[in-house]
Amino acid sequence: MTAFTGDLFDGRSSQAHPVSAALDAGRLHITGEGIALVFPLDQIDVAPPVGAARGVVHLPKGQELHSTDLAALAALSRATATNRPERWARHLESRLGYALIALVVSVLVMFAGLRWGVPAAAQLAAHTLPAGLERNIGEESLMLMDKFSLSPSRLPLARQQALARQLVTQCGKQACPPHTLLFRNSALFGANAMALPGGTVVVTDALVDLAHNDAEILAVIAHELGHVKHRHSLRLTLQSIGAGVILVAITGDIGSVADLAAGLPSLLLQNGYSRDMEREADAYALAWMNTACIPPRHFADILGRLDRDTTDSTTLLDSHPGTQQRIKPFLASHHCA
Ligand SMILES: [Zn+2]
Repeated sequence: MTAFTGDLFDGRSSQAHPVSAALDAGRLHITGEGIALVFPLDQIDVAPPVGAARGVVHLPKGQELHSTDLAALAALSRATATNRPERWARHLESRLGYALIALVVSVLVMFAGLRWGVPAAAQLAAHTLPAGLERNIGEESLMLMDKFSLSPSRLPLARQQALARQLVTQCGKQACPPHTLLFRNSALFGANAMALPGGTVVVTDALVDLAHNDAEILAVIAHELGHVKHRHSLRLTLQSIGAGVILVAITGDIGSVADLAAGLPSLLLQNGYSRDMEREADAYALAWMNTACIPPRHFADILGRLDRDTTDSTTLLDSHPGTQQRIKPFLASHHCA
């Protein structure tokens, strides 16, 4: 028998009547001064206690029984709600252990969402987004970079055109993704190259200066074309926004989405690409160079030189998956028909 004490409210006044309650033979008995009530269990409803507050038993005719004896109320709830769906919820709510498990599961789901869900969603979105939108993002990024971190190239126009012509010639021999080649000077980014959403490939003057021959420059451009082909920068962009949206959902801080969108250009310029993306771009460059009959070791040569020359981590080409490991296939392979 479950017995407990509480306050009875008659549903008409706010007057509390101290009572004793007992669950006996499938009925709830409530007794107090001048009070003797008996209710079949199907006429009462136990509301789950909120936090440490008292629980409420709803009785017929708007009457309520309030009690702080949560253990007794839980027993009463189990007795009344045998076949009701909310029974499970109450059962779970009443146990701290389940609450902790739920918390851990929530955190894991959130982590998995950020670690795997966002990149997967970004990859899917990158391949379904209209090309116009991708171009807009690329143009926006280039505009911001031209404003803050890039300046017009100091290379002679004839030199720029000669390199562009070589690329056109190679892309006439094999399928290159749609792209636009641009040269820019940048004190901030030094010897560098980057692929923007929409296919714009930017090569810095310092990279052209660092190269010992045009084959090395083409090798770097081929790597960037790999990023273009797989839409890596768009995926990166969407990932940063996707993660932001998830964080906003958790924190309710809408400002951070705007911050992330504004931070895009720097995201593209820092080590934003994952190792998998770099490997994909490398694989594309290797195949491209073999088709173009350019010895792949040229990529290894300039990558090694970039690695030595960069003291900070702001180059796209050096994104730490171990330069030595990355250049190995380029040293081993040369298949020219
Ligand atoms: Zn890269």
